[in-house]
Amino acid sequence: MQHPLVDITIIGGGPTGLFALFYAGMRGVQARIVDALPQLGGQLTALYPEKYIFDVGGFPKVLAKDFVRALTEQALQFKAPAFLNETIIGLEREDGQFILRTEQSQFPSRAIVIAAGIGAFTPRRLPQAVAHPWYGRGIFDAVGDPEMFRGKRILIIGGGDTAFDWAHQLLDRAATLTLVHRSDRFRAHAATVAEVQRAAADGRMGLHVFHELHDVLSVDGLLTGVVLRDTKTKVTFAVPCDVVLPMLGYVSDLGALAHWGLTLEKEEIVVNSCMETGQPGIYAAGDVTTYPGKLKLIASGFGEAATAVNQAVHWIYPEKKVAPGHSSNMALFGQSPD
Ligand SMILES: Cc1cc2nc3c(=O)[nH]c(=O)nc-3n(C[C@H](O)[C@H](O)[C@H](O)COP(=O)(O)OP(=O)(O)OC[C@H]3O[C@@H](n4cnc5c(N)ncnc54)[C@H](O)[C@@H]3O)c2cc1C
Repeated sequence: MQHPLVDITIIGGGPTGLFALFYAGMRGVQARIVDALPQLGGQLTALYPEKYIFDVGGFPKVLAKDFVRALTEQALQFKAPAFLNETIIGLEREDGQFILRTEQSQFPSRAIVIAAGIGAFTPRRLPQAVAHPWYGRGIFDAVGDPEMFRGKRILIIGGGDTAFDWAHQLLDRAATLTLVHRSDRFRAHAATVAEVQRAAADGRMGLHVFHELHDVLSVDGLLTGVVLRDTKTKVTFAVPCDVVLPMLGYVSDLGALAHWGLTLEKEEIVVNSCMETGQPGIYAAGDVTTYPGKLKLIASGFGEAATAVNQAVHWIYPEKKVAPGHSSNMALFGQSPD
């Protein structure tokens, strides 16, 4: 399907892309989002909808899914469309326009803002082949609704933020909780690590460092436990559990975007302080970008989205200023100038 020409096509409907869509509407240009996932919200919707976020401005504490709802309402107020379940796989230039292609559609655009986050992402699987048949029926690598696991004996594998955050959040719901990591070095927030270690010291949960999954135990096709192995002594022992949650991070893939001649560093797009990629008319913002001092945070993505869109607007329409003015003065929102 050939869609109409718009000013800016935003690749990715995570927090950065949603804020970029809002900003494009506020600047009075036509825009759209295209996202590979079936829902807006990027990592917040796909990876941690039920987790609280504490470090976005204006919200002392907000559930990721509620934050996405507010972002979406703000982004879609100008009636710009969002195309879901469509992965951008191609880019061509024709008559001074960009044509972005998915398997189903063509999206002509004057400029592009890439807000593709960590690209198309999938959870990293346990390396042990014995675990693979249990995925989806006892082993789950994503937690949608944590209530699903209330009253269960839960075993989490991993040493990063996701493993520790879920250990923290599932502790009061679980019948028993065990966290297993193959070393004693954790890549999680120090405060969460301290809380989990305190819970383990108090006997409220199990914590096994230098251990890894060795085998899966079952009765009549139901997962009933796992065998853990000490990575140093090779001694094994069984831990009864109903649910195993491997939280081993994500494998991300920039896919087609990696072949557009953009400057990449470790699968991230190098941008300057104007969020320019080096290819005129193509800007990037959010987790997909890198520059000295880059922070992969929602808060940084918002600032970068505003910069990218304002620069794109000026690039398409040089008579329009880069600086947007203050929303509190805008007639668009029913306000009058100071
Ligand atoms: C468990 C966890 C907890 C976190 N907690 C916090 C926190 O408390 N505070 C904080 O600030 N940050 C937190 N983060 C990080 C935060 O989620 C990211 O910084 C943020 O999501 C980045 O937003 P983004 O829009 O740049 O990218 P993403 O959220 O990754 O969204 C990118 C979107 O682009 C789409 N996409 C990619 N490639 C294509 C393509 N080719 N075609 C179409 N669509 C494409 C993807 O499907 C995705 O929807 C956390 C992350 C995780 C995993």
